[in-house]
Amino acid sequence: METVSSSRLVLRRLRDVMARQGSAQDRLNQIVRVIAADMVAEVCSCYIMRAGEVLELFATEGLRPEAVHSTRLRVGEGLVGVIAATAMPLALADAQSHPDFAYRPETGEEIYHSLMGVPILRSGRVLGVLVVQNRTPRDYTEDEVEALQTIAMVLAELAASGELVSPVEREQSTGIGQMPMRLDGIRLNGGLAIGQAVLHEPRLVIRQVVAEDANAELERLHRAVAEMQDAIDKLFADSDMAVGGDHRDILETYRMFAEDRGWLHRMGEAVKSGLTAEAAVAKVSSDMHVRLNQATEPYLRERLADLEDLANRLQKHLAGNPFTAAASSLPDEFILIARNMGPAELLDYDRRRLKAVVLEEGSPNAHVALVARALDIPVVGRAKNALARIEAGDLLVVSGDEGAVLLRPSEDVQLAVGNRIAARVGQRQQYAALRDLPAETKDGVQVEMLLNAGLFVDLPTLDETGASGIGLFRTELQFMLRHKFPTVMQQAAIYRRVLDQAGDRPVTFRTLDVGGDKLLPYMDDIADENPAMGWRAIRISLDRPAMLRQQLRALIRAASGRHLKVMFPMIADIAEFDAARAVLDLELERQAQTTVDPPAKVEVGLMLEVPALLWQLPALAERADFISVGTNDLVQFLYACDRNNPRLADRYDTLSTPVLRVLRQIVESCSKHGVAVTVCGEMAAQPLDAMALVGLGFRALSMAPASMGPVKAMIRSLDVAALAEFIGALGEVPAHSLRGKFHDFARDRGIEL
Ligand code: PEP
Ligand code: MG
Repeated sequence: METVSSSRLVLRRLRDVMARQGSAQDRLNQIVRVIAADMVAEVCSCYIMRAGEVLELFATEGLRPEAVHSTRLRVGEGLVGVIAATAMPLALADAQSHPDFAYRPETGEEIYHSLMGVPILRSGRVLGVLVVQNRTPRDYTEDEVEALQTIAMVLAELAASGELVSPVEREQSTGIGQMPMRLDGIRLNGGLAIGQAVLHEPRLVIRQVVAEDANAELERLHRAVAEMQDAIDKLFADSDMAVGGDHRDILETYRMFAEDRGWLHRMGEAVKSGLTAEAAVAKVSSDMHVRLNQATEPYLRERLADLEDLANRLQKHLAGNPFTAAASSLPDEFILIARNMGPAELLDYDRRRLKAVVLEEGSPNAHVALVARALDIPVVGRAKNALARIEAGDLLVVSGDEGAVLLRPSEDVQLAVGNRIAARVGQRQQYAALRDLPAETKDGVQVEMLLNAGLFVDLPTLDETGASGIGLFRTELQFMLRHKFPTVMQQAAIYRRVLDQAGDRPVTFRTLDVGGDKLLPYMDDIADENPAMGWRAIRISLDRPAMLRQQLRALIRAASGRHLKVMFPMIADIAEFDAARAVLDLELERQAQTTVDPPAKVEVGLMLEVPALLWQLPALAERADFISVGTNDLVQFLYACDRNNPRLADRYDTLSTPVLRVLRQIVESCSKHGVAVTVCGEMAAQPLDAMALVGLGFRALSMAPASMGPVKAMIRSLDVAALAEFIGALGEVPAHSLRGKFHDFARDRGIEL
């Protein structure tokens, strides 16, 4: 069978067989007969994968009928087993001399010399093997192999239909399907969850394999490809992709496939051979999947997920109804799998049933991670090939703390994880019980506990946690979620909503802290070579005074008649603080000319994040109403250690002599000059670090909602006098870390951590 048109003919005949009444087994019997006749082969056999990685002869034309359902080969055994194991076709003029040939006397195949076999593939998984054999030695051509692969698409539909082997058995039989597996990624948000996998963008089911009209199909394919390319171009111009640091890589991969002539050409050829556009896309991506999976270059193997994604996109353009799983009915407890997603998309899902998120991409500061953190949903990012490995419905365990995903965990693991989750829930209930109890140490020291917030979903946690206010409202998060710079009116509405929800509790608004790793989709000139130390935060605000004025104007309006607390991020010298404050004063004067009431009280502060300020503390204390210590940035600059670099995550310790000395200097200086001081970096959120802060003399801590319970429990079990003495006695130990010593102290004194 050499030509495309004869391939079409055989596909037509197969379609007619598929349309007939009768059992799947009857149809399969007829199919092997049609194939044998059309391919001028004495034998055509179909092996189907059963549980335990066994290939069973399900139908044959030419071999002995009694071998059907009796001949079985393990994956890797015999030529059929090798085809299944490698997922690659084989064409041999003299099959019996091949070292993998396994003779099965019941089949009577000894008289057939040549063999050509192809895997029956579905989404990159082997569901069976289709074989033709000839009596005389014969060199099968590449076109013939290609034609047999196309025919195998029809059989893939039959095999996947669940009529030959039940879906449950098939699930157990698809090799990797059976074994537990671990995928490693990075922690985007901690926590532990178990649930069924749901693909954020579901794979589509192909309803028709054989085309009615090849030309019309070709046109559909071309149209869908053009639409997809347009959509991808738009995507890159669009916000969410433009902010991700990895977007260059992704773009490159998309180009590689979407504009790859080979890929497009092969799909065109598959349509010409008689497949529908959908089946052609599936066939070519299956073939490429197999080829890439065997590639030795890791780069190519990594592109597998991109290929899946692209094929999926193309299928959606063919179907004409792009949709996400949020619109379908979902399991009671599910884990969302996506290549990447926007924060708004995440909010489309039912919060109570969504237990975790697994992303192939994502970085700790991606918006979706910020939203997930606010919702307290564990997230693992950079889980390589998650989409290729995880099927919808797979049972998963997600450990956000470890940045790991367990696929199809064993029953023991399920049980252990279930127990751990129950223990955490129990602990949470205990923390919730602390809500109305004072944050007071055993020796009567009060610690003010405040929240870090930035999204509207954070606001209800004010009541839930019993926080006394918002110590850090990261205004940039609201800017990052939008596609355009919000107007003064829009901003004022945001800030008003926050103040309304807070009621009498104070809210400290931090002016825009963009740049660094927080980029705005609509400000593309802030991507720096060395962003953490680049043009960011107050530096941008002072260079773009209109932006800062608008923000301050909106804050002043929103706080009409109320208490306004504003702080400036990344101040490095007094002049910057003075300049920022002057802009605020200007806006306050401006407001005074209007009929709108001014804020009842205004306090102005700054974030202490740049070490240079440590030598300007007295001058600063004269000017600022309060100081908030951003330990995340401060420690990164003290140790010259990028806070977002996973390789450096554990390199230096916050509980170390230099950091503690710096913090002591800050707290002493603020107390001497009568300036209020808060810590709002991650140190305040970790019970052991927070303990050290209280021991050093800090009396106000601001943290993410999930940390309120553990930190309050620590405070209520602490004796500050003993701790202060312990810290004093540590002196100037030149140790890399003092964490162990603090741990021992807490353990010996029964402090809850
Ligand atoms: C900090 O740097 O500690 C801080 C609280 O600010 P951010 O994490 O938003 O940079
Ligand atoms: Mg900071």
